Amino acid sequence: MKESFSLDSAIRKIPDFPKPGILFYDITGILVNPPAFRYCIDRMVELYKNDHLDAIAAIESRGFIFAAPFAERMGIPLILIRKKGKLPGKTYSCKYALEYATAEIEVHQTDVRPGQRILVMDDLIATGGTLNAARNVLEQGGATVTGFFGVVGLPFLSYAAVLGDSVPVKTLIEYHGE
Ligand code: AMP
Repeated sequence: MKESFSLDSAIRKIPDFPKPGILFYDITGILVNPPAFRYCIDRMVELYKNDHLDAIAAIESRGFIFAAPFAERMGIPLILIRKKGKLPGKTYSCKYALEYATAEIEVHQTDVRPGQRILVMDDLIATGGTLNAARNVLEQGGATVTGFFGVVGLPFLSYAAVLGDSVPVKTLIEYHGE
């Protein structure tokens, strides 16, 4: 597939955001650049078109942006995984550790079906903790996570160790630290 731009150039790198020492990879530059956004969705479809996915599950909130056009193009359900307290129905939930705190994510129980093959995605994979918690809530509903996807991957933060090697982890661009 022809890339008429550099995906890297569409991703702004902002030092010391949201706190000192963090280099923030800002994907809003992709969203305001239609060829870059289209490239991402085209590549995702190319990567997963033969995977027989039953659904895509996406992490609030930047994961939603990439997952929605992908779900529409693939003709599969989009399952929203949200921060605790946002979903009105009965949920499966999972608490997980962040660097200095804990977080909790949830999914509607009625959105997950036993035996479903689900791809889980976010805009960026850092430690892998969020995607791993997402796998947990989907498995509570009897689904199988068949892949993890991030537009951006930061492998130096060791997400491979957290996510394991039983399921493929794919990204469109990787950064290897500053
Ligand atoms: P993790 O659970 O550590 O893989 O963190 C992934 C989540 O945190 C994603 O939702 C990202 O949007 C966000 N995130 C973590 N680190 C960064 C970073 N350096 N730049 C942008 N987003 C990040």
